[in-house]
Amino acid sequence: MSDVLKTPVAYLKGVGPQKAELLSQELGIHTFEDLIGHFPHRYIDAKSVQNISALSPGLDYVQVRGIITAVREEGAKFKKRLVAELTDQTGSLELVWFQGAAWVKKQLEAAGVYTVYGRVSYFNGRATISHPDIERYDPAVSPSSIQPLYPSTEKLKGKGINNKTFGKLVSSVLERIGPGDIRETLPYKTLQKYGLKHRSEAVWHIHNPPALEDADRAIRRMKWEELFYTQVRIGQLRLFNHSQPGYVFPVVGTCFNDMYEKYMPFDLTNAQKRVLKEIRTDTRSGRHMNRLVQGDVGSGKTMVAFMSMLLAIDNGFQTCMMAPTEILAQQHYESIRQLAAPLDINVCILTGTTKAKERKQILQYLQEGLIHILIGTHALIEETVQFKNLGLAVIDEQHRFGVGQRARLWKKNELPPHILVMTATPIPRTLAMTVYGDLEVSVIDELPPGRKPITTIHRNESFRPQVMQFLREEIAKGRQIYIVYPLIDESEKLEYESLMAGYEQVKTWFPHPNYNIAMVHGKMAPEEKENNMQRFVSGQAHIMVATTVIEVGVNVPNASVMVIESAEKFGLSQLHQLRGRVGRGSEKSYCVLLTGNELSREARQRMTIMVQTNDGFVIAEEDLKMRGPGDLYGTRQSGAMEFKIADIVNDTDIVEETRAEAMSILDEDPNLVKAEHMVIRHCLSQMNMRQSTHWNKIS
Ligand code: ADP
Ligand code: MG
Repeated sequence: MSDVLKTPVAYLKGVGPQKAELLSQELGIHTFEDLIGHFPHRYIDAKSVQNISALSPGLDYVQVRGIITAVREEGAKFKKRLVAELTDQTGSLELVWFQGAAWVKKQLEAAGVYTVYGRVSYFNGRATISHPDIERYDPAVSPSSIQPLYPSTEKLKGKGINNKTFGKLVSSVLERIGPGDIRETLPYKTLQKYGLKHRSEAVWHIHNPPALEDADRAIRRMKWEELFYTQVRIGQLRLFNHSQPGYVFPVVGTCFNDMYEKYMPFDLTNAQKRVLKEIRTDTRSGRHMNRLVQGDVGSGKTMVAFMSMLLAIDNGFQTCMMAPTEILAQQHYESIRQLAAPLDINVCILTGTTKAKERKQILQYLQEGLIHILIGTHALIEETVQFKNLGLAVIDEQHRFGVGQRARLWKKNELPPHILVMTATPIPRTLAMTVYGDLEVSVIDELPPGRKPITTIHRNESFRPQVMQFLREEIAKGRQIYIVYPLIDESEKLEYESLMAGYEQVKTWFPHPNYNIAMVHGKMAPEEKENNMQRFVSGQAHIMVATTVIEVGVNVPNASVMVIESAEKFGLSQLHQLRGRVGRGSEKSYCVLLTGNELSREARQRMTIMVQTNDGFVIAEEDLKMRGPGDLYGTRQSGAMEFKIADIVNDTDIVEETRAEAMSILDEDPNLVKAEHMVIRHCLSQMNMRQSTHWNKIS
């Protein structure tokens, strides 16, 4: 980048040291370059102004124009807000500010016509705009038709840096730079191929679009650039991963073959076979495997993991499997120990609650290579856990583990063990390409035969008696039932209390001694938890009352009804995971979503989706649309989702294009040494300097 763009913003007219400091603190804007990189988040067509009487709840952002007919403060103390009434010739609406009231009030003292832009919402039938963009309207100055709106903060607005100021600042920067100052960041060939604007034109148009189409194309170009560089980085990471040497498992030995031919209680599904083949190919290649196995709840991931472990064991290696919770580790241990019983191998479990003496013994056997499969929780990645020769590590339910934790497992021997990550959360394609782009992905897209689809119903509180009656009938048929209470984030104590209250209520509907109820929750001592689980697994208890600790992995085929209390408090993916606990046996299964009588629109939508579909992929897509990517899979902390302008939920086409282009360039020129790719190398090194911390976090 040229020198002009590196000029501090304090050198601009109208920006003193104080404002410069504020811009840098609030928005990270230090230089001219940062300023022209501060993009508008919206455009308005100055010509289109709506009549207030014509506003309706269906509209989102609106522009209206009128005079201020009243200004008052309402509410006390922390709920204080400033309310102004805006009136045009057709009606009036309310403008509300919860912050910066003093400043706004002063602004509104001037008489005159105001243009107001913002999102309308309705309170008690009254149209209201909170924190609108507001500007005095001066008919003498006719603005160009398309006006950019810049994101800002209350603090900046409070110091008089509003939308208009941003417009001015950006214009004065654009006036001072020459044609060569905004350098191209994409190869010429790429611009041609995808019909993208040159960078300098895009920057110009994003701030001053002659028409909305120009703004759209400019935005597209800037998004393209951002996603392209993300994909190049991921591509490089992937190339690096591929070049890492890994242990070779040349043979398919007795354990694997005996299991496959003699002991396996069922035939593998075609999907399971295919994924196993992929793993076999990886582990024979001499390269390090980094594979994500994605399969809906109940698709049989455990068996795939187990067979992969046998493959490693047959080749003289040890294996481990890490689960996110104690209960899940315990369940895996039980099922894998049973599967392994006819084979001559040792399976152990190590968790945070393993007794000191036993732990010592396990660690010793592990180092001597006597343990073939070690199952556990986070405890497995502690420094003291040393294997003799760990060849494969399986991580169940990826979204609970950070990327950093995955990496720590690798440090256990001279070569890193192959990594197999299992997740039941289907990851929408574009998200997978971006977040897990450095992993190979296998999909188990088939459920074992004979599964009966789960019928999901949504009932509100007033139907509780009927729901309880239904549960009694199912119990009378010999079925078992889960009743799950939500995890309330803010307070473990609240969670516990809601569970306890629920438990008492369940007891009154299902009195002892006719009914036997088990309960598990996070605060329980491990033995008590185990005892309660065991009573349910053995069929002695009819009902399992639980918090979301049963969310992942638990397997009780006779449990055919899942009741989710306060279902509106759960996210879609979580509801789907919970529902996956039933429908595992041969009986008709049900999931009952119990909610309060009044639901928000989003909550109602979630219930409808759950009732309509059992397809984990559809649900994941909907979840992504409704919540945005930041919330999902703990990616918020990872930094992988911090896009400045792109939006991977809605820009899927650009994600696909940029990925294809990045891959084709890296295929052709992995080290980016060709002259036409110099520009990429140059930009990457600039980014490295700027973002080294950011990328360290995710790679
Ligand atoms: P998940 O993918 O949710 O981890 P599990 O591995 O727990 O699923 O498998 C769910 C149930 O399906 C288990 O009871 C398992 O024994 C059974 N199962 C797995 N594969 C098959 C198969 N090919 N045929 C029949 N049942 C299977
Ligand atoms: Mg599982």
